[in-house]
Amino acid sequence: MNGNKPVMPMSAQKRIALIAHDNKKYDLLDWAKFNRDSLAKHQLFATGTTGKLLEAELGIEITRLQSGPLGGDQQVGARIAQNEIDFLIFFWDPLEPLPHDPDIKALLRLAVVWNIPVACNRASADFMFSSALLNEPYERILDDFDAYRNRTIAP
Ligand code: PGA
Repeated sequence: MNGNKPVMPMSAQKRIALIAHDNKKYDLLDWAKFNRDSLAKHQLFATGTTGKLLEAELGIEITRLQSGPLGGDQQVGARIAQNEIDFLIFFWDPLEPLPHDPDIKALLRLAVVWNIPVACNRASADFMFSSALLNEPYERILDDFDAYRNRTIAP
């Protein structure tokens, strides 16, 4: 029961964004190699360097965006807000400060706003990819943003 909240439909084929920070890239590559056949059923997006490595490793077409520090994380966030990406695999590095830390926070925030499934580490990605929902249509329940859009602004 969702109390008549708005929903965002996701089709069986998911639009999946993949991002890994440098210290996590080989972790993601290893995970992606293991899950290649599952990934191949979906539409894939990635930040620049992550996408280049994944394409070479998997031989699957990937829409490559800018490198993360050059705006790639923000591009993924914008696509989430435009309902063009509905699944995020984001192996971020918890031990290194990065120049685009604000972009990373913004991306993770938008993923929560739009109720996108997010895996920030390998175990989460394993659980998400072994879910029966991965290859099924699904309706993401959203908060009622109209209340926010129509809020009263005091003079
Ligand atoms: P990259 O960007 O895939 O171009 O390395 C990822 C990031 O650092 O956010």
